[in-house]
Amino acid sequence: MSCLFCKIAAGEIPAQVVHADADLIAFRDISPVAPTHILLIPREHIPTVNHLEAHHAELVGKLYLRAGELAERLGFADNGYRLVMNANRDGGQTVFHIHLHLLAGRAMQWPPG
Ligand code: AMP
Ligand code: ZN
Repeated sequence: MSCLFCKIAAGEIPAQVVHADADLIAFRDISPVAPTHILLIPREHIPTVNHLEAHHAELVGKLYLRAGELAERLGFADNGYRLVMNANRDGGQTVFHIHLHLLAGRAMQWPPG
């Protein structure tokens, strides 16, 4: 498996892991664009949002539930944060294993660039 995020999930490439369970892993982005920048990924290799199927609904729900739990645990739930999942070229996706960006610690702009 040549996927970078599969290797991180398998522990073959080091990462600053903030949560891991049977379905998901969350780790700090190597090139943060906010004071807190965490990536939440499913252990299952799913290349893009376009590849999601109905049976993934619970898994995707777990990504969001865990993001909210991390926001509480790390102390920025009330101030706020942004969750982003990029898809393909125009979305700016560069790693083709779906991941939810959790961005916090500064005010976000809207519309996004
Ligand atoms: P995206 O552009 O939405 O596909 O996001 C990919 C993200 O993965 C970027 O924010 C990168 O900084 C991040 N990234 C790439 N390699 C690593 C790595 N080895 N460990 C942690 N984050 C990474
Ligand atoms: Zn993968």
